[in-house]
Amino acid sequence: MGVANRWSLAWSIAQSFVREGARVILTYQGDRQKETVEELGAELGAALVAPCDVTQDEELQALARAISARFGELDALVHSIAFANREDLSRPFLETSRSGYLIAQEVSAYSLVAAARAFAPLMKNGGSVITLSYLGAVRVVPNYNVMGVAKAALEACVRYLAAELGAAKIRVNAISAGPVKTASARGIQGFSSMLDHVASRAPFQRNAEPGEIADAAVFLASDLGRGVTGNILFVDAGYQLMGM
Ligand code: NAP
Repeated sequence: MGVANRWSLAWSIAQSFVREGARVILTYQGDRQKETVEELGAELGAALVAPCDVTQDEELQALARAISARFGELDALVHSIAFANREDLSRPFLETSRSGYLIAQEVSAYSLVAAARAFAPLMKNGGSVITLSYLGAVRVVPNYNVMGVAKAALEACVRYLAAELGAAKIRVNAISAGPVKTASARGIQGFSSMLDHVASRAPFQRNAEPGEIADAAVFLASDLGRGVTGNILFVDAGYQLMGM
């Protein structure tokens, strides 16, 4: 979930999954993205391309029914979705509106709970749920504001879901990715200077690459990650470990 275009982290993840032999399903939010995602799905050889706005429980249920009818089960879910109003990613955090706070939480954090509830029953032999987070969940990053609070909630959701779904052999983890230039990232004021800052200070002396984030998702989805649940895995060129 979350392929909007070729720059989307979900697109890199889908490519890595296919490279490793997975059959993938791509979802899109609405008619605006339908054609693009169908084209990308065809290029990838996706088994299904289907609509799914994660704020609509009926769409989540309809997708779960479609997957059940066509494939019988699901092995992994990649939740690569977030949204905040643009003005909340530039003005002071103190000015965050009630509605801006709620929409960021609904799309970026609660949707993981809703999607896990819809799709966990399809993970009949266990499974893996993976979401995408960012350092702004645990540290203050200028302009990340309301999205940082949503990512903090998302990471807590990962832990609570992991605790409950462990008995069903379903693992739940997040990848905390370093900044990558995508459509969503461009909505954060000063994003280019974030990239420069990381590249000048990260142990790797560069930014994380989409392929590195995607391959970490393959690890978490595959049996190689079978012992890992409730974790936040940093794939960020090492930036998060620096104190000064
Ligand atoms: P992206 O390409 O813009 O992907 C975000 C996706 O979320 C889009 O496909 C968007 O669809 C989708 N979405 C938003 N609202 C939705 C809804 N109600 N229902 C279904 N889908 C919805 O940007 P991205 O950077 O790859 O973001 C993917 C994830 O990685 C996000 O959780 C983001 O916070 C996280 N992340 C990104 C970075 C980074 O630097 N890029 C770093 C760390 C974590 P539409 O385009 O149709 O709205």
